[in-house]
Amino acid sequence: MTSYIHSPEELELAARGLLDKHPNNADLPMKERMQLPKQYPPTLDPVERATCQDEVEKSLTPAQAVMEARRCLQCKNHPCVSGCPVNIDIPEFMHHAAEGDFEGALAAIRKSSLLPAICGRVCPQERQCQRNCTVGKSKKDVFQAVGIGKVERFLADWARESGKSKAPETAPETGKRVAVVGSGPAGLACAADCRRAGHKVTIFEALHKLGGVMRYGIPEFRLPNKVIDAELENLAAMGVEFRTNFVVGRTRPLLDLLEKDGFDAAFVGTGAGLPLFTNIPGEGLVGVFAANEYLTRANLMGGIAGDAVDTPVFPSKKAIVLGGGNVAMDACRMAKRLGAEQVYVLYRRGREEMPARAEEVAHAMEEGVEFRFLENAIEILGDDKGRVRGAVVQRYQLGEPDASGRRSPVPIEGDTYEIEADMVVVAIGNGSNPLITATTPGLEANRRGNIVVEEGTNKTSIDGVYAGGDIVLGAATVILAMGEGKRAAKAINAKLAEG
Ligand code: FAD
Ligand code: SF4
Ligand code: SF4
Repeated sequence: MTSYIHSPEELELAARGLLDKHPNNADLPMKERMQLPKQYPPTLDPVERATCQDEVEKSLTPAQAVMEARRCLQCKNHPCVSGCPVNIDIPEFMHHAAEGDFEGALAAIRKSSLLPAICGRVCPQERQCQRNCTVGKSKKDVFQAVGIGKVERFLADWARESGKSKAPETAPETGKRVAVVGSGPAGLACAADCRRAGHKVTIFEALHKLGGVMRYGIPEFRLPNKVIDAELENLAAMGVEFRTNFVVGRTRPLLDLLEKDGFDAAFVGTGAGLPLFTNIPGEGLVGVFAANEYLTRANLMGGIAGDAVDTPVFPSKKAIVLGGGNVAMDACRMAKRLGAEQVYVLYRRGREEMPARAEEVAHAMEEGVEFRFLENAIEILGDDKGRVRGAVVQRYQLGEPDASGRRSPVPIEGDTYEIEADMVVVAIGNGSNPLITATTPGLEANRRGNIVVEEGTNKTSIDGVYAGGDIVLGAATVILAMGEGKRAAKAINAKLAEG
């Protein structure tokens, strides 16, 4: 589809007009830099986009990317860098981008991040790099901060689309072998850095497709598969091998990889794919889904193609989504796209407390999803055939802050009502899959089932076995998982260099 709120051509033209007024980046005075308007990417029309899987937000145009980078003040203390979990040198890449040197800018990013096209799209920037940006602070509005993620994404997309995306060079072969379990961002980052050091790397993935949550969880309209494929092609070009449909712990025990198959080290990046449920009455009714199952059916099993597949998505006209994180946002927006006329998000706290990326919440609202804050289902109601017909909803007020620092929801006694629906999607969080810990004697896990690792090296209780990402942190973010994979790779490379 091609209907935009503002088209790329229109935005490029406006940004070029600004560039003509300020042709020289180096001479641009601070005061004028501060007044440059924030650049917003071309975004699809909300009514039309809610009926298809097309990516909602496109890349900034080239002139927009230069203009946005020129909004950066090159702060000496660069507070943005400490907000990025992998400490990308943001002023350096912004400086190159502001000069129109896109290759130099991308090279600066790639020193710290393997996945800029992905992180630029999905990082919760308003809580990370952009949170402390001086520009946002001085305008007292975090959303006016320099669009670090948008420029980062532009650079990665530009390189991919102009054929300038190169696989990193690898050191001469060492003869050592590393097994990576799981192909999410933690596994991919670990694999890339171990391969760079010259080790042979094999990624073992339980599913038939690679990419972890980036593939089966985050929908195409937010993160297109072609972007993930490009990153995987880079790894393949480096010589990383992939084994799909291989469930470590079932197809082969983890320790056999080390003790019988000749691997010198292993990294476990198996994520947090086990959905949590609410345990309210009615959760067993037909039409109740864990968000992970719902999204996997849609994204990975071909559900978005309609009834032509063996595992179609449940056809809903009135859907309720429980939760307030990114998973809930993906589920509610997917339900709209798959034909639901009314979609309600029930969240026990207020909008301020929602953990989802602000942009996803805004996009869901634009697409017609109805948010009911300070409300939650306390019972799912069924008809005489055992199918969902609605829910009993409890209203809440906010009380004192809890351990997470957010004000806790307190039920208002007796304040309940019934809502009609034919589907309920539960998106209240995910826990770790117990398979590897259950089948690997001596692998220490905490009471939540997360693998315990040594700080700084991500080494587990078993010599030669490392772990990182959601399986260690609990459900977290792409960039944190990637950072963990890189940290483990550094420790693996140091250990293998010892001989
Ligand atoms: P995963 O991405 O979960 O990958 C783990 C991989 O290991 C999977 O492919 C799995 O199949 C495989 N595996 C599991 N067990 C085995 C086994 N025994 N043998 C072999 N392979 C195995 N984060 C953000 O930063 N921004 C977002 O907008 C965002 N949105 C999200 C939306 C959804 C719907 C979900 C579910 C998560 C979202 N996240 C988001 C969180 C983010 O995707 C995760 O934190 C991140 O993917 C974790 O990376 P990982 O590598 O640890 O694990
Ligand atoms: Fe910001 Fe994420 Fe990029 Fe770091 S990786 S600079 S947090 S968008
Ligand atoms: Fe640029 Fe903002 Fe970082 Fe300052 S804090 S260097 S203005 S991105």
